[in-house]
Amino acid sequence: MTDCLDFYIDGAWVKPVRGGKALDVVNPATETVSGRVALGGADDAVRAIEAASRACPAWAATPLSQRIELLAAVTAGFERRLDEIADAITDFKTALSVAKSYAFERKQGSTLVVKEPVGVVSLITPWNWPMNQVACKVVPALVTGCAMVLKPSEFAPFSARLLAEIIHEAGVPAGVFNMIFGEGPEIGPVMSSHPLVDMVSLTGSNGAGSSVMREAAATIKKVSLELGGKSANLILASADFKRAVGHGVKLMMNNTGQSCNAPSRMFVPAERLEEAEILAAEICAGIKVGDPRDPETVMGPIANVRQFERVRSLIRQGMDEGARLVCGGSERPDGLDKGYFVRPTVFSGVTDQMSIARQEIFGPVLCLRPYKDLDDAVRGANDCDYGLSGYVYAGDLDEARAVARRLRTGMVHLNGALSHPGGPFGGIKQSGVGREWGEAGFEEFLESKTLFGSDPAPKS
Ligand code: NAD
Repeated sequence: MTDCLDFYIDGAWVKPVRGGKALDVVNPATETVSGRVALGGADDAVRAIEAASRACPAWAATPLSQRIELLAAVTAGFERRLDEIADAITDFKTALSVAKSYAFERKQGSTLVVKEPVGVVSLITPWNWPMNQVACKVVPALVTGCAMVLKPSEFAPFSARLLAEIIHEAGVPAGVFNMIFGEGPEIGPVMSSHPLVDMVSLTGSNGAGSSVMREAAATIKKVSLELGGKSANLILASADFKRAVGHGVKLMMNNTGQSCNAPSRMFVPAERLEEAEILAAEICAGIKVGDPRDPETVMGPIANVRQFERVRSLIRQGMDEGARLVCGGSERPDGLDKGYFVRPTVFSGVTDQMSIARQEIFGPVLCLRPYKDLDDAVRGANDCDYGLSGYVYAGDLDEARAVARRLRTGMVHLNGALSHPGGPFGGIKQSGVGREWGEAGFEEFLESKTLFGSDPAPKS
């Protein structure tokens, strides 16, 4: 059992102000309780915001070299606990290298533009890639000189607690980093509206994102949002079809479909739909679903019961709306009657109007959508409220790039390329506002101050 019953505020571990309710953290593979997390209230959020606000001016004024040194100490702390947090280290190293080369002051004629930290930031993160999503907010905030309050997902608190321990050991000044746990609808609004907060950065669902925007509006805060997606995967006639379909199906099922940028809508030439169905079904048949601790397992459970029920209900809705089930379905996989397990599911003949084509399912459910020509494919891909990622597979890169330019998304993966931490990560339309990772993610936490007439006036 691992418990997260304390919050990290002002450099120390403290109890929630009102004693706090505790939520059971459930292991989704076994439905047994693996720990508890304290749920804070508005008082805890205010206490953390005030600590960040007190620490902010001195932290913002520290020389960059000192912040880089501290970040290097945090990175080293992470490296010592490598097994626990391998992925987050990439975020730390990328931010370190951006910080070392970033031009915090730029001359434009006689004008000097100075980049300054935004100030006090509220950071709210989800459960699906828990350590990575925390790191890609905390690290740039820390090194740019912001003071922060982090609220990780109440469903996945353990890795964030580890981060707080490492930050504490590295000697980050009290109040610069604060961490509380709690339910989003309860403390999210305080973190989004408090007058001492300058910026809110949230990764999560669209409901949470619009709540943050509403709450932040009264005091005109900067808002950065990484929200949902329903990414289209365009397999062009010239592509290596078998490889492209295979890669697209595996990417969709990765992390049990719980990735915001999952390629959940696969567009294939209409005349090759049947071939795509056979290939997709073959791949799904080879995906072993089960306990993630079993080395044979390829796909683990859905993260929590709420999400499990939602995925199954959307699968039923797909069938009701007339999509053809190629494999999978809403029943638990054979032999797994405990745990939030879902079968890798593929629907075919999906149209752009169906719920399964429009709503983010956040589970292992792939939609095959036949297209008659390229214009039809691009139109269908863009007929979507979201605009996070796109995927294009073509015979050559020029063709893939040309189609990528027509997609209304923040990112496009060409011929199976994976994301790279240096590139801006984020979406347009209802997928969010702003970018994470690399220099773009770093700049989210900076404001420009313009000093006009910074050079002596030329003598007349
Ligand atoms: P969620 O919105 O339920 O929770 C995310 C975080 O927001 C949690 O910490 C939660 O407590 C908090 N929250 C909930 N309601 C809030 C409110 N009213 N005000 C402030 N905070 C609130 O999302 P989730 O189920 O944890 O994560 C899945 C969602 O996250 C999916 O929609 C997924 O697409 C999205 N996501 C997006 C990205 C991206 O980079 N675009 C990455 C990962 C996940």
